Amino acid sequence: DPQLNQNYTFDNFIEGDCNRLARSAGYAVASKPGGTSFNPLMIYGGVGLGKTHLAQAIGNEVKRNIPDKLVIYVSCEKFCQQFVDSLKNNTINDFVNFYQAMDVIIMDDVHNFAGKDKTQDIFFHIFNHLHQSGKQIILTSDKAPKDLAGLEERLLSRFKWGLSADMQVPDLETRMAILKKKMYADGIDLPYEVVEYVANNIDNNVRELEGAMVSLLAQATLNKKEIDLNLAKSMLKNFIKNANKEISIDYIQKLVCEYFEVPVEMVKSKTRKREIVQARQISMYLAKNHTKTSLKSIGAYFGGRDHSTVIYACQTVEDLIDTDKKFKSYVQDIQKKLKMS
Ligand code: ADP
Ligand code: MG
Repeated sequence: DPQLNQNYTFDNFIEGDCNRLARSAGYAVASKPGGTSFNPLMIYGGVGLGKTHLAQAIGNEVKRNIPDKLVIYVSCEKFCQQFVDSLKNNTINDFVNFYQAMDVIIMDDVHNFAGKDKTQDIFFHIFNHLHQSGKQIILTSDKAPKDLAGLEERLLSRFKWGLSADMQVPDLETRMAILKKKMYADGIDLPYEVVEYVANNIDNNVRELEGAMVSLLAQATLNKKEIDLNLAKSMLKNFIKNANKEISIDYIQKLVCEYFEVPVEMVKSKTRKREIVQARQISMYLAKNHTKTSLKSIGAYFGGRDHSTVIYACQTVEDLIDTDKKFKSYVQDIQKKLKMS
């Protein structure tokens, strides 16, 4: 199973109050796939809190217990892409059959289904087939099912069937344990005060914690220095500065069009088709708010429109954000993706 990453196991997943329920439910499911009431098991929480790690660990544990179980790990994004490809190549049946043959399906980041109605339909059928056959479904998401706007109601109601377990930001003690375990695995012995300092100052999520450690190690190696508190302090300054990068309009267009499953050329064309207009207006709105580009230049990026079109688009988007909950969640989703890049 090339999709499973062997590095993510229960062994190297540190347990804390922040993840105890999700971890133990995951372990139960891994020991008895399809045989518990945790079906689907939905693991949800913010970025970098260990959802993918835990989901992968479940898959690896199933394979360790029962090697001939068919386990698939797939990100929602990849699933959506595969679906689009199979439409193009006329291989929908193969696509569906492949997933319906699995004993365990792990789908990562299902919030990415938002706005993709056609892919949701297909997944709805695959879900039903697997569930009825007693197969195990594991999902991860950045929000609780009840807060997942932009997903079809019938799919959401199925996501709520089993158990939803949240993952929270680890407390200081758990962050320190994670750091120590990672460093130990790499054969590095860190002074206690460095572990404590880093864990104290990086408290958003585990991924950032690891990022900071990697930078710290790199600096120490480059400068042939000991990893001590002084080095940690000077490094953390740079680490936090990294955040303000320039975002390009090209990138905004790409992100929005991927989100709504429309070709990028269309937002630059004259089309008045509803879904294209929506993607175009949201792109303009984001370009105005997240770049320093003038309204005139923004218009030029969308097939040579003038600045009043851009103003109108921004106004429309702002109105819809105020009045349409689903629309608002689309824009927020895309904004979140923009900020992560
Ligand atoms: P998410 O999918 O929630 O965004 P990831 O699973 O990718 O987060 O986790 C980010 C990084 O943090 C990974 O390298 C993962 O191994 C590590 N990590 C997160 N939680 C833990 C934990 N409890 N114990 C050990 N490592 C963890
Ligand atoms: Mg993840």
